[in-house]
Amino acid sequence: MTPQAVDPANPGAGAAVKAADRAHVFHSWSAQGLIDPLAVAGAEGSYFWDYDGKRYLDFTSGLVYTNIGYQHPKVVAAIQEQAGKLTTFAPAFAVEARSEAARLIAERTPGDLDKIFFTNGGAEAVENAIRMARLHTGRPKVLSAYRSYHGGTQTAINVTGDPRRWPSDTGTAGVVHFWAPFLYRSPFHSATEEEEGARALRHLEETIAFEGPATIAAIVLETIPGTAGIMVPPPGYLAGVREICDRYGIVFVLDEVMAGFGRTGKWFAAEHFGVVPDLITFAKGVNSGYVPLGGVAISAEIAATFETRPYPGGLTYSGHPLACAAAVATIRVMEEEQIVERAAAIGETVIGPGLRELAERHPSVGEVRGTGVFWALDLVRDRETREPLVPYNASGEANAAMASFAAACKAHGLWPFVNMNRTHVVPPCNISEAEAKEGLAALDAALGVADGYVA
Ligand code: PLP
Repeated sequence: MTPQAVDPANPGAGAAVKAADRAHVFHSWSAQGLIDPLAVAGAEGSYFWDYDGKRYLDFTSGLVYTNIGYQHPKVVAAIQEQAGKLTTFAPAFAVEARSEAARLIAERTPGDLDKIFFTNGGAEAVENAIRMARLHTGRPKVLSAYRSYHGGTQTAINVTGDPRRWPSDTGTAGVVHFWAPFLYRSPFHSATEEEEGARALRHLEETIAFEGPATIAAIVLETIPGTAGIMVPPPGYLAGVREICDRYGIVFVLDEVMAGFGRTGKWFAAEHFGVVPDLITFAKGVNSGYVPLGGVAISAEIAATFETRPYPGGLTYSGHPLACAAAVATIRVMEEEQIVERAAAIGETVIGPGLRELAERHPSVGEVRGTGVFWALDLVRDRETREPLVPYNASGEANAAMASFAAACKAHGLWPFVNMNRTHVVPPCNISEAEAKEGLAALDAALGVADGYVA
């Protein structure tokens, strides 16, 4: 699907949208007076455009969720059809769209994760997965990785490792953080992936021993951490975590809110590692975010805990028919158009090689890592020392290098995903080869700007 439509420029309409936004919309994660949101006039496929008629290739997939691109006609039609048939219905009833979405998701989750609890997004999925684990085990604590993001609600933000946790960290959430493997910035001074995986497992075991195994309900990990840097875990690591969880009766939660539904070139990233967790959290790609939807896929054993004992959690819009109809249509489109396979192929043949080629020519690129349509460039001031291009959690002047890089991308018609010293290449899973190459060319130009900050 190559989008050609760009609405005619209408700067007056854009100015009105912007003015109402600035007057009344309170934005996420932002100092309200310091932001300047772009007014968006429309979007299609891998592109969106503003009211001046300027078009951007979206290398962010929104917030890494439009896995089938914007405005897929079949999914839009399915939402319209469902709206005409049954726009909404309460969660206690069996409703066709909800039943079918649950069936299609359960068919694709690994192992026996065959029951689906629906939420409105990823954070609520994480909240509920942790509640299930605590009730199933009767234990209070949760272990999660420092380099992670699990959502903005109270438990999910406390499980999160990145600095967005700090203002909401009560220190009483029952969460203990540990270091997951990341060879390029190894917390364990490892020289190889094998060493990193083994040392990370030993560190996790020691953390559990010193915390007290019988106090730990769950280990929560992103299968491939997303916002924190797209670190593909070393072979054997997740299987090792599975084994540790089994040994201590700990529930293993894999958070696939970002990595799931095709992003890594598989339906679920867990498939890359041959691991079946006890719970999988999902959202985003399940219906490309056309209508808010998330959920928890639940193993037979954990589902059995709540067979005769009520599960003490619920949401008015759990399994909303519009969202579920969008999920059904999205999954069908992904099958028909082989979107998961295409994500794997474009990563292997175009994006991965293209990024490695950029790394050869740009001294600001320290490492290229990823798979499918899930890639990170770790930008550095110095390739030898691996000093990040900007300090951890930098803002203002200290973040000038990344701000200039992002501005250069936009000037070249590319909307980049930027987090700390990294840019992530996370376009829709069905991006065409020509579009991917167009984005790589824009990155090439913008990395020239980043190179200017190399020591
Ligand atoms: N978990 C992961 C891995 C995520 O990447 C995100 C969002 O980026 C969340 C949870 C939270 O999802 P939501 O923003 O839908 O609540």
